[in-house]
Amino acid sequence: MAADHKAINLSQGFPNFESDPVLIELVCKAMRDGHNQYAPMPGDLKLREAISQKTQRLHQVVYDPATEITVTAGATQAIFTAIAAIIHKEDEVIIFTPAYDCYEPTIKLFGGKTIPVQLRAPSYTVDWEAVEAKITTKTKLIIVNTPHNPSGVIFSEEDMLKLQHVAEKHNLFVLSDEVYEHIIFDGNTHYSVARFPGLAARSFITASFGKTFHNTGWKMGYCMAPNSLMSEFRKVHQYTVFSVNSPMQTALAAYLQTPEHYLGLSVFYQQKRDLFLDLISDSRFKAIPSEGTYFQMLDFSDITQESDVTFAERLTKENKIATIPTSVFNANREDFKQIRVCFAKTNDTLQKAAAILNAI
Ligand code: PMP
Repeated sequence: MAADHKAINLSQGFPNFESDPVLIELVCKAMRDGHNQYAPMPGDLKLREAISQKTQRLHQVVYDPATEITVTAGATQAIFTAIAAIIHKEDEVIIFTPAYDCYEPTIKLFGGKTIPVQLRAPSYTVDWEAVEAKITTKTKLIIVNTPHNPSGVIFSEEDMLKLQHVAEKHNLFVLSDEVYEHIIFDGNTHYSVARFPGLAARSFITASFGKTFHNTGWKMGYCMAPNSLMSEFRKVHQYTVFSVNSPMQTALAAYLQTPEHYLGLSVFYQQKRDLFLDLISDSRFKAIPSEGTYFQMLDFSDITQESDVTFAERLTKENKIATIPTSVFNANREDFKQIRVCFAKTNDTLQKAAAILNAI
């Protein structure tokens, strides 16, 4: 719709600026140097080593590059493969809604049943007793996503300890979607499941280079899990993609040697979040600052009581700004009168978008 109506596109989660030229040059060099044939099935060893070192630096935990890390075609393939590896007919999977949209169809494809736990605006905090109440003998997996798309909320250390308690008590696998691990604001900490031994032992962690290095179209990501889980993951990975593209792996392995390339991301995006919130501070939209991700929720209940879908469509057609109505991520399409905007945009785009929002 954004394209059809020539609207400023703050809907889908992708940057409208380029990746670092240094990284692009590394890809070109890798191609010129002949890294153009199949990579090893689990991924280029140098890249897996670099991922392992990054994880150790950030979370003081070692994932073995040989047996516990696999490079994937984006986090989407990592999520698909992890679910495929463990979900059988009639298994139940707990997800938190609003939820990123690839979890449920994949669960369904393998005969599983999605059990949503609805988080509510404006805080989107988890009631862990409500989570436990949904667990049955068929519950096999719980999927978490912190920092969270679309709400921009992060799990606290206490949330992670409660997750660990529930997962251990009910013997659940965990799929921890951490694609926004490097985009976290106001000095907060990203609590990866890797930091909690009771969780790490039963978790798949999925991650995305597209989110971290501003190149979502490259579709590069990875999965980390203990050997016992990763060996099952690889059985599926081998026959879905076998391996993912080689020159980008060579380039990412080199680029990851400089930690500033990912450590600077929170500051970079916090400036964009702050600029955007400042620009719309006099508008009729209400916002609680996002804690992580490059998304911001905007409450429009002071403007209209129409449904978020109708409102977002009208904004696209009449005001020429595309956003996401967040009911589409909720169980039963519950409507909290919130739209999601992506602020991974140039400052010029953010200024133009804010001018439109301020006039509504
Ligand atoms: N998980 C979440 C929460 C996401 O927002 C996205 C991308 N929008 C993905 C997974 C998929 O990541 P990738 O583009 O690397 O497949």
